[in-house]
Amino acid sequence: MDGQYLPMSEAKISVLDWGFLHSDATYDTVHVWNGRFFRLDLHLDRFFGGVERLRMKVPYDRETIVSILKDCVALSGHRSAYVEMICTRGSSPTFSRDPRQAENRFIAFAIPFGSVANKEQLEKGLHVAISETVRIPPNSVDPAIKNYHWLDLVKGLFDAYDRGAETALILDTNGHIAEGPGFNVFVVKDGSLRTPAFGVLPGITRRTVFDLCAEIGLSATAADIARAEIKAADEVFITSTAGGIMPVTRIDDAAISNGQVGSVTRRLMDLYWRKHDDPAWSTAVIYP
Ligand code: PMP
Repeated sequence: MDGQYLPMSEAKISVLDWGFLHSDATYDTVHVWNGRFFRLDLHLDRFFGGVERLRMKVPYDRETIVSILKDCVALSGHRSAYVEMICTRGSSPTFSRDPRQAENRFIAFAIPFGSVANKEQLEKGLHVAISETVRIPPNSVDPAIKNYHWLDLVKGLFDAYDRGAETALILDTNGHIAEGPGFNVFVVKDGSLRTPAFGVLPGITRRTVFDLCAEIGLSATAADIARAEIKAADEVFITSTAGGIMPVTRIDDAAISNGQVGSVTRRLMDLYWRKHDDPAWSTAVIYP
């Protein structure tokens, strides 16, 4: 923060920051696994894209941000970390309501790696509920700008908990499946993969699934998924920087297929983690 590295307990921002008051911020998260960032360039591209579209300015260039992120992880000492970079609108010294007057701020932090799914869920698959909640429409908030508009996703989560499920999927404005709290979703049917195209964050893990499918000759497309289709899928999995590729074996009150983690999901999970020490896909942190 502001050119300093601090313990988390000392890292504080003003309550007047528009990131806090109005959700006027963008961010990205990248993970470090065994001392290497995974697909850092793609995360930086998405971050800078969001910053530009929100008409904010990060006070550092890309190269400096890479070294800040590396230092942050190195100083934290974590070999596997969840690393977040944030640009907030900040606030104006004169309390102006004009966002052009605000001084934008860059913040980054590294905490231990955390996953959407725990070990048992990764082995057995998650139980997901489909909530009636509709994701904020893409013509309101561009989902390509990674943002903190999570009230719809949090509502979905509580719907899921009320129904005995572990996490949620919410809908797009046409009533099709969109995404969940911190993840994209894929279905596998007759050996082909599909993930929603409309109104969802273009996830880097989602993109990685497309890249892995191209490598091993599986067909993958981005297109609508109706609620009935996800329930009739052979396999379902979710994707996030926080956990990678994670199996889903139950939706609402019914098992997906035979209720076991499917072979395509297992193969992709395995490939995904094997890419983490490939220098074409990862960047080393230099620890002191
Ligand atoms: N959708 C939403 C709403 C998210 O917040 C995230 C990740 N934080 C994702 C999807 C997954 O994106 P990625 O694979 O880049 O982590």
